[in-house]
Amino acid sequence: MKEPIKLQLGPVLVEIWHTTRHVRSTFPDGQMLGASPEDTDEYRYKAKELGYSDTWEMRMHHELLHHLYMQELGFEYSKSLYAASKDMELHLDHYNEEAEVLMVQKWLKTGDESVLRYPCKLEYPLEFRAKVMRVFEQVQMTPEKEFNSYEF
Ligand SMILES: [Zn+2]
Repeated sequence: MKEPIKLQLGPVLVEIWHTTRHVRSTFPDGQMLGASPEDTDEYRYKAKELGYSDTWEMRMHHELLHHLYMQELGFEYSKSLYAASKDMELHLDHYNEEAEVLMVQKWLKTGDESVLRYPCKLEYPLEFRAKVMRVFEQVQMTPEKEFNSYEF
């Protein structure tokens, strides 16, 4: 397996393997959560809804956004991904996080600002977009390169 791209997002390490289409979050306590796109029509439809033609790109962006979004709101990392890593029962906060991340992801990909009318908690959406786009570009353009300490 090739070396993954490594992004340090606050206390969370995110590793990305483009060749196997896998993304993994490692939390400060060592808990890990891996994710890959699903090979189903439903999943492809979901990607298309968010403005993606590539389910892998959608999945990778989605996992990154969970952390970036929650960190923008002042948390250390994604609460819902952490809960998933521990197989914890999900509650309302987790479902809200998921809905908000999907909304922000659709806005970033399609430019459709109307999706932000849903209670948007981002205080500085344009600054947030610039930061996220920088991360997306880094992981996209140099898949072979390793980032050991990408600072935000
Ligand atoms: Zn999610």
